Amino acid sequence: MATGMNGVAGDGVSRRGALGAIGLGVAGVGVIGAGRVSGTKRSQPGAGIEGAGASDPGAMQGAGFYRAMVGEAEVFVVSDGSFSLGDPSQILAVNATQDEVEGALRDAFLERDGVRGQVNTLLVRTRDAVVLVDTGTGGAFGASTGKMTQNLARIGLTPADVDAVVLTHAHGDHYGGLLAGPTAAGFSKARFLVSRVEHDFWRGPAPDFARSVLPKASQDQMIQGANRALDAIKDRMDLIGDGDQIAPGIHAMMLGGHTPGHLGVRVGSGNQELLFVSDLIHHAAFGMKNPEWHVAFDVDPAEGSRVRRAMLERLASDGALISGAHLPFPAFGHVARDGKGFRFAPVYWSW
Ligand SMILES: [Zn+2]
Repeated sequence: MATGMNGVAGDGVSRRGALGAIGLGVAGVGVIGAGRVSGTKRSQPGAGIEGAGASDPGAMQGAGFYRAMVGEAEVFVVSDGSFSLGDPSQILAVNATQDEVEGALRDAFLERDGVRGQVNTLLVRTRDAVVLVDTGTGGAFGASTGKMTQNLARIGLTPADVDAVVLTHAHGDHYGGLLAGPTAAGFSKARFLVSRVEHDFWRGPAPDFARSVLPKASQDQMIQGANRALDAIKDRMDLIGDGDQIAPGIHAMMLGGHTPGHLGVRVGSGNQELLFVSDLIHHAAFGMKNPEWHVAFDVDPAEGSRVRRAMLERLASDGALISGAHLPFPAFGHVARDGKGFRFAPVYWSW
């Protein structure tokens, strides 16, 4: 996913989506019986729930992180929240017919205006290092986002504990935490790892958006936003490439198309592994079943689809455990074949 300057969603459609998340919120849940006397504070949706903002009282659920072991590596999916994604036919399936989009919505029990983009980051703690993969939105997508730091605190960590921050790519829902919330300075001891291809694309004199379906103004906003983020980390930045080690047992994996230098991250320990595929999938109900559906945020939508199908084929064959920036929380699971496409098979939550 993408945002432009100031971390605000970089095109008209997604901006409306983000604003919708601020204005509309989600019906409060989990407070039945909390207060029956009208007019009291306790009767307000979300009253008393930690992290529930008044403008979006139902958006924050009780769980903000999910922990699992990958061999000896401790991994946490840390949620940054979620936001309204707007009309999927303009974001998630720009080359699909309206009937196909309606079918995908029906299959997932989703309303056309109720599709939300989830934002997950991944924290990996090994005996060698604490590595954070992506920094969330920094709150730029409305009050139901920007929760990464508070959910990190629930693990007992602060940005100052992080040794390395991997930026999977330079879109605002991934770099936002470098500009607001913790900010780059808040990661006081971290090195910042960025794909060299990604860095060179955004830093170049004229990033090539010839294949993008986004309007020019949105492209310009994205370029400016990426440069603000790269400016913020330029003094502590290391450029990496496909297969490079981030920390012992943690390696980068090139997954281009979405952006030219878009990275996944592989965590391996013993004979176990986890692949964080970042924006390979923007929404499990769309990109998994139909990898060829083009995503508006992809710099090269056709290449994004090609990489998506190839990677999903590999994941379905390997049976690898995956996580991703926009998979449904807790965003751990596997890829299974489903007809001509695939589906996300989530792991069962365990306590
Ligand atoms: Zn994204």
